[in-house]
Amino acid sequence: MPAPLCAAFTDTFAAVALVVFAAALVSTGAAAGAPVPLLPNDAAERIAAKKPDLFKHLPASGDVPDGVVALTAKAADPVWHGEDSSVETAAPVRQGDLLALTAAVRGVSRYGTEPKILVKLQGSDWAGLIRGEIPATGEWRWVRLLGRANKDRDAGELRLHIYPAYGCQAFEVRALSLENWGGAPKDSLPPLPETQPAFGGEPPVPPDAPPPPPPVALAPLSAADRARPRRVMLKLDDVSLRSYRRYDRVVKFLAEKDIVAGFGVIVSSLEAAPADYVDWLKRNARENGGRVEFWNHGWDHAMDGKLKIDEFKGSGLAHQRENLAKSQDVFRERTGLSMCALGTAGNSWDANTSTVLSERPEIRVWLYGNPRDDGGKVVLRRSFNLESSVGRISFDKFAEGYSKHRLDDYAVLQGHPNMWNDQSWAAFKKVVEQLLADGWTFATPRDFADKP
Ligand SMILES: [Zn+2]
Repeated sequence: MPAPLCAAFTDTFAAVALVVFAAALVSTGAAAGAPVPLLPNDAAERIAAKKPDLFKHLPASGDVPDGVVALTAKAADPVWHGEDSSVETAAPVRQGDLLALTAAVRGVSRYGTEPKILVKLQGSDWAGLIRGEIPATGEWRWVRLLGRANKDRDAGELRLHIYPAYGCQAFEVRALSLENWGGAPKDSLPPLPETQPAFGGEPPVPPDAPPPPPPVALAPLSAADRARPRRVMLKLDDVSLRSYRRYDRVVKFLAEKDIVAGFGVIVSSLEAAPADYVDWLKRNARENGGRVEFWNHGWDHAMDGKLKIDEFKGSGLAHQRENLAKSQDVFRERTGLSMCALGTAGNSWDANTSTVLSERPEIRVWLYGNPRDDGGKVVLRRSFNLESSVGRISFDKFAEGYSKHRLDDYAVLQGHPNMWNDQSWAAFKKVVEQLLADGWTFATPRDFADKP
């Protein structure tokens, strides 16, 4: 076996693996032979050579197998280096072949984020065979990703990409192997070693990152600017039976600050909901003296990235009509409240959305909707962002966007309280305090409907 492959296992493990695999063959009757290594012997070296400022080849020594370490510290944000790390396969693959990628990995982040290593195996047509995000914890761990070939492919036609992503500043990959197990069933592969690799050594250290750009300073506004009438709506998405308790601290904070917000409800969650959830919605509704106006966030929030079909995009006129009707009706039946605004899952829509909205006179506001075909609704646009990425708030990033819009007539700020960690929660409170200090009035969809 070539170096990167045989280096994947200690001698003991290889022996155990052979026994287990032989047993699996007997029990399943599969006619698969030994796996065919797909990576060239010098895969790690080649990956390293592709991008010498990012990767460094670490040759095998003693018990430590061949490996490649990637270092990047360009920014606090994910850095994508897919093309740079690709390596081509050394043997052909036939349709239905089981491909197994095995490696030992560890990674570090200096930004307090959870580092992840992204692994992709793609054809020259970009068709994915294997895709995985491996959490890298600083401790060595074995990982294995599996995939089946969707068609015949020649040697060299598959490309393996390994790169740091999602806050990973440095990672180390050793004992990397990619094997073709032919028609073997997935559960017939030898198990990964029960103990994590003990390759030792200090975890990779990211080089010094360039200092982050200085935060944008928000100078106090003049009294005249503060007094200009401007409305801001907090568009807080994804209330459901599963998530609603995570909105409690927001509700409490709204009361503390004497402000209001709009919460988007995924209405299918009300179909067979316990009384607690229904009571919570009723109690917090502005109509009943609460701080929240609930708006329609769709029936099921369906989003299918693969098929490129969302609940209100590409799903067809009849489907959109039915889901809009169901969500309006079930919400009213269960809570006695009505919703006067729609904000779709993923803020995606198509021409049918305008049509079905035009059939519902009780809906008067369309959040982040289509300004060119508004279905007769008040369309509220997105200008600057509360969250720097979905579910995360950084006050400095907010300030950067907000600094150009401090005197806008209105703003709709989208957030996902169900996803906020303590840092995001603290940043959210700081954002609200900034907006209050700047003289904004907090509003809900109905305010915009009544006075566009
Ligand atoms: Zn949503």
